Amino acid sequence: MTTRVRFAPSPTGYLHIGSARTALFNYLFAKHVGGKFLLRIEDTDIERSTDESTRSILEGLQWLELQHDEEIVYQSNNAPKHRAVALKLLNEGKAYRDFTPREERSGADVKAAIQERAREQKDMRDNPFRDLPKEESDRKADAGEPFAIRLKVGASGKTIFDDAVYGFQERDYSEIEDLVLLRSDGHPLYNLAVVCDDIEMRITHVIRGQDHLTNTHKQVLIYEALNAEKPTFAHLPLILAPNKGKLSKRKHGEVVSMTTYRDNGFVAAAFRNFLVLLGWSAGEEKEIYTMDELVSKFSLDHIHKNNAVFNFDANDPRHWTDDKALWMNAEYIRTMPLEDLIPLVKAELKSAKLWRDEYEDDDKIHFEKTVDLIRERFFTLKDFSSQGRAFFSEDFDFDEAAIAKNLKKFSELQTWLPELAETLETVEDFTHDTLETVIKQFAEEKGGKFGVIMNGARTLLTGLAVGPSMLAVFETLGKEKTIRRLKSQIAWSQ
Ligand code: GLU
Repeated sequence: MTTRVRFAPSPTGYLHIGSARTALFNYLFAKHVGGKFLLRIEDTDIERSTDESTRSILEGLQWLELQHDEEIVYQSNNAPKHRAVALKLLNEGKAYRDFTPREERSGADVKAAIQERAREQKDMRDNPFRDLPKEESDRKADAGEPFAIRLKVGASGKTIFDDAVYGFQERDYSEIEDLVLLRSDGHPLYNLAVVCDDIEMRITHVIRGQDHLTNTHKQVLIYEALNAEKPTFAHLPLILAPNKGKLSKRKHGEVVSMTTYRDNGFVAAAFRNFLVLLGWSAGEEKEIYTMDELVSKFSLDHIHKNNAVFNFDANDPRHWTDDKALWMNAEYIRTMPLEDLIPLVKAELKSAKLWRDEYEDDDKIHFEKTVDLIRERFFTLKDFSSQGRAFFSEDFDFDEAAIAKNLKKFSELQTWLPELAETLETVEDFTHDTLETVIKQFAEEKGGKFGVIMNGARTLLTGLAVGPSMLAVFETLGKEKTIRRLKSQIAWSQ
């Protein structure tokens, strides 16, 4: 039997990190066994579902390169089928009509009633309509009395299933209320819809967050009532906020949204690699994996049982997201094949209006060399247009601290650096080794330190205090720019 899994987000907001991780695990599991990864948009909550959320979820999946198989299933299209199943269960006596007026049944009251019953250790089966004779129930329905349809949970027994991550699970029927399948307005409820769709889509493995465990017990009851074969369930550890609380869109905002990472210069492959390690490891030191490696290594038995923590500090811009995500991104930027990085840098430079067509044409080799040089210290793609700006534009800023530390502290540099520019004008072979000899000699003549001169030059040439090897910077910027910037007094007047 072909393995078929699904990712089933509710389009009530952007793609959340936790959902993206669920999608990724489903994808990797399916691809590992040569199965199918399906996508189902659970848009049955009419008030909260939006097309914009659906779009943002699709964009997030596309960014992470989690291409789904087959057509997308929109759950709301299946509502007639869900209703039919509820009616079938009603006809078979496995569900019943609950004529309790809507107000009494509504959310808070039901919850309070359940808690009350649990407190009193009374059983959950005391709904007065549960055992209403069929004729009586039919008569009321025919007379137009509104009703919800509830599943008739057995008086005694247990739901059991073997979770692929958490092992054997059981729950006493007495802990499960007669769940509503269909609301009195005909709206099918979540657990019914999920089970019907999973059966119809021939889902073999349901892989989702462990916050769904309670639902799974209810869903097991529905599968049993339908005499349908249950899929294998695999629940995933949660991804928690730094305070070990729930990581939520509402509380934590943008930091949990996938689009934030796309828009803040993350390499999709790096973020995917970061995500996969939130709750899974191959059991080895290695942490950097290509998609192909992940597909070949991924298995449910290496999923952790302990919840993962997503560490960040909303009050510290340097730690706005998990350090490991930033580290991973820097690793990718530094080591990924240059030909894969170039299009990403191009997109970044384009959006910062720093892109020039020559970079793909006459200046291609030089452009690639520049990218290769500066990527060494970068954490995000944004750094190419911010810290790397001086390599692509004459209009760059000077860092105040760099001016103080590398220039103004050594006032002699104000005349030395323009003099160095004059010396460099005579250099024909503007490459690393020659430049090193010439500048060392210049430093000696001045009785100054080579390092001080280089640091000063760095700030004049790039606006910054740190960066790649300075001789490589001279060589990459080239003779003309180097000389012009060494002579410029702009930084000195700031
Ligand atoms: N729509 C549910 C959610 O977004 C997931 C349902 C499922 O995976 O069964 O949490």
